[in-house]
Amino acid sequence: QVTDPLAKEGPSSPSYDWFQTDALVTIVIYTKQKDINLDSVIADHRDDSFRAETVIKDYSYLIHIALSHEIQEDFSVRVVENVGKIEIVLKKKENTSWKCLGHPLENHNSLIPKKDTGTEIVKPYTPVSDSLFSEFKEPVLPNNKYIYFLIKIYPAGLFTPELDHLQIGDYVSVSNPEGNFKISQFQDLEDLFLLAAGTGFTPMVKVLSYALTNIPSLRKVKLMFFNKTEDDIIWRSQLEKLAFKDKRFDVEFVLSVPTSEWNSKRGYISPALLSEFLKRSLDTSKVLICICGPMPFTEQGMKLLHDLNFSKDEIHSFTA
Ligand code: FAD
Ligand code: NAD
Repeated sequence: QVTDPLAKEGPSSPSYDWFQTDALVTIVIYTKQKDINLDSVIADHRDDSFRAETVIKDYSYLIHIALSHEIQEDFSVRVVENVGKIEIVLKKKENTSWKCLGHPLENHNSLIPKKDTGTEIVKPYTPVSDSLFSEFKEPVLPNNKYIYFLIKIYPAGLFTPELDHLQIGDYVSVSNPEGNFKISQFQDLEDLFLLAAGTGFTPMVKVLSYALTNIPSLRKVKLMFFNKTEDDIIWRSQLEKLAFKDKRFDVEFVLSVPTSEWNSKRGYISPALLSEFLKRSLDTSKVLICICGPMPFTEQGMKLLHDLNFSKDEIHSFTA
């Protein structure tokens, strides 16, 4: 059954077609939407089934088929943005002619509300780069096949111990990317301040590398990184190396549970720490402050930034 909730609201339902050459099978999805990009497409090949989910507003259009023949592991996805066309190119295992693409599986060729696409435990994680020194890349398939995460395991947590016990070959479903950070927030930026606590560092990874490589107006980037102990500091040596290599970048570590040998900053986020840290390079500098960490940290930080007269446009908080 084809459900088409968007039809009632105006935009027409997507459709698909396929064609083949000796070596390739191409599935073409006509989304009939103009704002489709690669982030809107999640394609997954498992055993003989192939699933491609295209996110269109609050709906997902699904291609979900048991393929009639075997395909190779790697495939590619291309998006022709101005016409909203998606091309998925599969490589045949054997160069035989396919009579049909396969048979439909659950929700194939239908548009369903995003919340009904189904998941058991859902926790958000932030993709990072493999290091602070890898160049910022737009997600381009098929060259960029890997997604990197930095995930802290909480022994008493609900989800992370499960993740920790996964074996090679096990599966985890990954949802569509979500978020509201816009690259336009970087436009003409001169000073970038990052306030991160614990794994709240993860959204800063790409922000940092994007800003340092793509924003010509940028004069200064400063990270204040709050952790409990020295051992908790994620990528400390990379951060120190980056500060050494790029004179625009500085990092300061603040520990809330330091040992007696720690002779740098200590405590929780506070007016004293922030007012000293958030100095503009020029009185008129265009500033952006990004903040992320445990909720009480972010809430407290937002309040302090407000007290220091930074405007809403100058602050981006990463929250759920
Ligand atoms: P949970 O079951 O949530 O427990 C976490 C800890 O809290 C455990 O120590 C547990 O014992 C304790 N706890 C649980 N309930 C209570 C309670 N009622 N009272 C007191 N203590 C309690 N994490 C990352 O590591 N990397 C990321 O890149 C990342 N990105 C994120 C992005 C977003 C937008 C958000 C909102 C969160 C992100 N997180 C990230 C956090 C992540 O989503 C999970 O919250 C985290 O992995 C914990 O999950 P869990 O199920 O293992 O632990
Ligand atoms: P943690 O418990 O190790 O704490 C790190 C630091 O946060 C502490 O050293 C302290 O400086 C500060 N902090 C903790 N509690 C505080 C409080 N009550 N008031 C003020 N400051 C406080 O942190 P963790 O276990 O790494 O947790 C990181 C948090 O970041 C998680 O809650 C996670 O959900 C969140 N996170 C959010 C995103 C996002 O995009 N929204 C991304 C990654 C992580």
